[in-house]
Amino acid sequence: MLALEAEERSILIDCGGDLFQRALVAGLDPEGIDGLIITHEHPDHVGGFALFMLRIWQAGRSRPLPVYGIARALDQARRLLGSFETDGWSLPEIEWIEVDCAEGVSVVDSDLWSITAAPGIHGVPTIGLRCQHVDSGFVIAYSCDTEPCPAIDRLALGADLLIHEATGEVRGHSSAAQAVDVARRAGCPQLVLVHLPRGLDREDMDRLETSGVQVVVGEELDRFEF
Ligand SMILES: [Zn+2]
Ligand SMILES: [Zn+2]
Repeated sequence: MLALEAEERSILIDCGGDLFQRALVAGLDPEGIDGLIITHEHPDHVGGFALFMLRIWQAGRSRPLPVYGIARALDQARRLLGSFETDGWSLPEIEWIEVDCAEGVSVVDSDLWSITAAPGIHGVPTIGLRCQHVDSGFVIAYSCDTEPCPAIDRLALGADLLIHEATGEVRGHSSAAQAVDVARRAGCPQLVLVHLPRGLDREDMDRLETSGVQVVVGEELDRFEF
């Protein structure tokens, strides 16, 4: 789960656990949540959707909540919410905004952020995100879950900060070394590794050839300034 924050407004990305609680701990203003992007249908990316809606309602949210994603991700979110008896809930209105699973499609185009997508290669359809802060031009690329592929290379091209998964070198995922290769090919100076396997330790990282790329192993509630 990630959050982009600027001017006390935020866009949240994925909701695998208790996203709202995490946002509060991170110091985000619940009133400033402008939307949620769901990258794909897997439980670690959407499984907390119903809980998120419950919590945001209980926090007094009244304005509609835009929820962006490819069709299968949004279908999963609707199914998860539908599995609860929500008739008595006064949930904020959800604006479902479906995007094509295609390279270069616009996901969010606001006064703060220009966010486009590219499909990764994973067990199910998924999108990585390229997030450009409008005023500064700073670009954050997020691979989401994917094995290395040209579309995600292009998504990352020239990004100031690359957030890349590092589950391991298995089908549909990437290793830390492969993530470093993506950063190097794309010319990204800073790489944050997320979606980590159990047991990734400092020695594994020390063995990585990271010349030219500053590599950080992501931790809960990490913040990166731009
Ligand atoms: Zn996945
Ligand atoms: Zn995942």
